[in-house]
Amino acid sequence: MNPSYTLAVAGIGKIARDQHLPAIAANPGFSLVACASRHASVEPVRNYPDLDALLAAEPDVDAVSLCAPPQVRYAQARAALAAGKHVMLEKPPGASVSEVEALRDLARAVGRTLFATWHSRYASAVEPARAWLASRTIRAVRVRWKEDVRRWHPGQQWIWEPGGLGVFDPGINALSIVTRILPRDVLLQAATLHFPADTFTPIAAELDGIDADGVPVRAEFDWRHGPVEQWEIDVETTDGLLAISEGGKRLSIAGQPVTLLPEREYPSLYERFHWLIAHRSEDVDVRPLRLVADAFLLGRRVEVEPFGR
Ligand code: NAP
Repeated sequence: MNPSYTLAVAGIGKIARDQHLPAIAANPGFSLVACASRHASVEPVRNYPDLDALLAAEPDVDAVSLCAPPQVRYAQARAALAAGKHVMLEKPPGASVSEVEALRDLARAVGRTLFATWHSRYASAVEPARAWLASRTIRAVRVRWKEDVRRWHPGQQWIWEPGGLGVFDPGINALSIVTRILPRDVLLQAATLHFPADTFTPIAAELDGIDADGVPVRAEFDWRHGPVEQWEIDVETTDGLLAISEGGKRLSIAGQPVTLLPEREYPSLYERFHWLIAHRSEDVDVRPLRLVADAFLLGRRVEVEPFGR
C-alpha cells in the first residue's frame, strides 16, 4: 500500500489556492495538516504566521510545499530541510542558481527529498513532443511566450523586485519545456532585456542561443501583450514542424493535431513528489534557471517606458 505523508504548505496566495490546495486534496498520498502564511489561513488545518513557527510546532509533519515568491524560497527551504522535512519548491526554485545548488547539497546531507518543480513540464504536449523529437533532425527552435502582466499578476510587486525575474517568471516555464523536449542542451549566446524605468526586472526579453549541434534557438518573452496569450514553441525538423501551443495544452506535428491527455499539471507534480519521497530520491534540474541567469549575464539592457507599478 502507498504510504501517506503529512504535508504543510507555506505561502497561501494565488498559486497555492488555484492549484496546490485542490491537487493535495485530490491526492490520497498526502494529508494537509498545516499552513504558514502571514495574512492568509486555510480551514480546517492548523495555521501559523510563518514557516519557522510551523516547523517549531509541527515536528511530525513529513513534507513542506513552498509557494511563496522566489525571493524567500532559499530561507524557507533551508529551514524546512534542517527540520528534517521533505521539500517541494514552486518554480522558480530560487532567486539564484547558487541557492538551488546549496539546497540540493543540504537535502542530500540530511537525507531528505528535494523536488524543484517545473509545472509546465507536466503539460500534456511535453512528453509526446519529447518522444517525437528524440529521433529527429532539428533545424531551428522558436519560442514566443507573451501575455498581459496586468491580467496574470495583478498587484504583485515581487515580480518587479530583484529576484522576482520579471518577464522570466512566465518565460522560465517555456525554458523548462525547451530543456525537457530537446535532445541536447541549449547554450545562450545573446539577450536583450527591456527594463521599464520604474522596475528592477525586465518586462520583455529576446534570447538567442544554440544547441550542442549549433541549431539556432530563439525565444521572445513579452509581458506587454494583448488579451490573448501566446504561449508557443515551434521546433522545425527535417520531418516537419512540431508546434506546441496554449502553454503545452496543444500539439501538432507536420500540420496534424496530436490527441493529448487532459491537462493535470499540479496533480502530476504531487504524484511525482510522493514517488520521490517514497523512493528516497530527488529531482532538481537547474537548467531553466541557469538560462535565465545567463540572460542576465549576457543581456543588453534597453530602457523602456515606465510600467506604472
Ligand atoms: P502571490 O500570490 O503574490 O504570493 C504567494 C503568497 O506568498 C502571498 O500571498 C504571501 O502570503 C506569501 N508571500 C509573499 N511575499 C512573501 C514574503 N516576502 N515572505 C513570506 N511570504 C510571502 O504569488 P503567486 O502568484 O501565488 O506565486 C508564487 C510562486 O508560484 C511564484 O514563484 C510563481 O512563479 C509561482 N507560480 C505562480 C503561478 C500563477 O499563476 N500565479 C503559476 C505557477 C507558478 P502571506 O502574505 O499570507 O504570507
